[in-house]
Amino acid sequence: MATSSKNPSEMLCQDCLRVVPFTMAGHIEGTEKCVCGGEFCGCGECQSVIRALKKGHRDKRSLGISGVVVSWSPAEGAVFK
Ligand SMILES: [Zn+2]
Ligand SMILES: [Zn+2]
Repeated sequence: MATSSKNPSEMLCQDCLRVVPFTMAGHIEGTEKCVCGGEFCGCGECQSVIRALKKGHRDKRSLGISGVVVSWSPAEGAVFK
């Protein structure tokens, strides 16, 4: 596996788990916000959460989140129970 977490291409909304293209405004400056009002992060941990979501993981232990995810898509984010 040659996936590098040093070149993030996406970032994750910390609230709704939407996935959007990585930008410095979202990741570093925090000026780009999600439509839900949440903040984006594109750190290594968030990259692995994105990968886990795309692989179909929905349990909070794999995702390292506190909510229970009922459904998820990159464009719509997660639906929590
Ligand atoms: Zn959001
Ligand atoms: Zn992060």
